Amino acid sequence: MVPRRTGACQSERWRREQVAAFDRVDELLAFLGLDRAQIPDLDADPETFGLKVPRPFAECMRRNDPKDPLLRQVLPLAAEQQRVAGYVEDPVADATAERVPGLLVKYAGRALLMATGACAIHCRYCFRRHFPYQNFGPSQARLERALEDIAGNTQLSEVILSGGDPLMLSDERLEALIERLDGLAHLKRLRLHSRLPVVLPSRLTDRLGTILTRGRLPSTLVIHANHPHELSEAVRSALLDWRAAGVTLLNQSVLLRGVNDRIETQVELSERLFACGVLPYYLHGLDPVAGSAHFQVSDAEARGLLEGMRARLPGYLVPRLVREIPGAHSKRPLE
Ligand SMILES: *Cc1c(COP(=O)(O)O)cnc(C)c1O
Ligand code: SF4
Repeated sequence: MVPRRTGACQSERWRREQVAAFDRVDELLAFLGLDRAQIPDLDADPETFGLKVPRPFAECMRRNDPKDPLLRQVLPLAAEQQRVAGYVEDPVADATAERVPGLLVKYAGRALLMATGACAIHCRYCFRRHFPYQNFGPSQARLERALEDIAGNTQLSEVILSGGDPLMLSDERLEALIERLDGLAHLKRLRLHSRLPVVLPSRLTDRLGTILTRGRLPSTLVIHANHPHELSEAVRSALLDWRAAGVTLLNQSVLLRGVNDRIETQVELSERLFACGVLPYYLHGLDPVAGSAHFQVSDAEARGLLEGMRARLPGYLVPRLVREIPGAHSKRPLE
């Protein structure tokens, strides 16, 4: 890659920005020119899964708009405390697909490794918001066990680094992990699922891009953007650099009421992704995780939305509308 800035200061910058994330509701509201009275449904101090919002993401929000689609994704609301039938703590049955702690194998040939429990942002609709990350034990020992299991499972051709968010790991730890995977001859592909490229684009350092492209395994980065406003110029420029370096870029998003449930928004998201060198991959129906029912969009509406997108976009800019059904052999088309 063509270095844009010196490595050392690049790698410090994302950590600094990560530490400086908003973690108090009042602070975020003040930054946006809002006050509590404008958000009657606010839960300013949730007992678990508190507010966490990196500043670059907050800067993409509209000021003085309590209904901003980015704000809605991160602002804790009282509605989360309501119990709704069918909304549970482990909606995708991760606990039963775990081979060793943090290694999920649900689909043929692919293993998903929760490289770390940490995330740079707390999305209120997250299907892992109740996941017992703290039970992972010391992470190096856990990763070793997972690597051993992957090494012994020659059915696998792809490892997906996920989390939490795998890009919360340092470059050094990622480098060591990727080198180990690179050495396993039965693997053909490496994939990362991360929201950091969107919420903290400074994480896409040249050094990390080099780590991902110099090994044997072709790398795919699946980012997570739900709304076109999330894809700032800083995000675009970082993604285009990585694409030029040879990383395949895809996006997955979650269909969310009040965030991206209009055809125009979805069309704009696909167009903006393309401008960032990214193709839409999955549009996920919301997993029924406890606390997220207010984000649900009905299947009928979801299908209508997709039809509307098909009528306006080339086929390669229409994501696959899917839902995760516990026990199924793949994500299931919601059509
Ligand atoms: C979603 C998921 C995958 C990836 O599925 P693809 O259809 O290959 O994108 C792999 N493993 C687990 C456990 C998953 O939840
Ligand atoms: S970034 Fe992903 S894993 Fe982290 S809180 Fe958001 S949806 Fe959940």
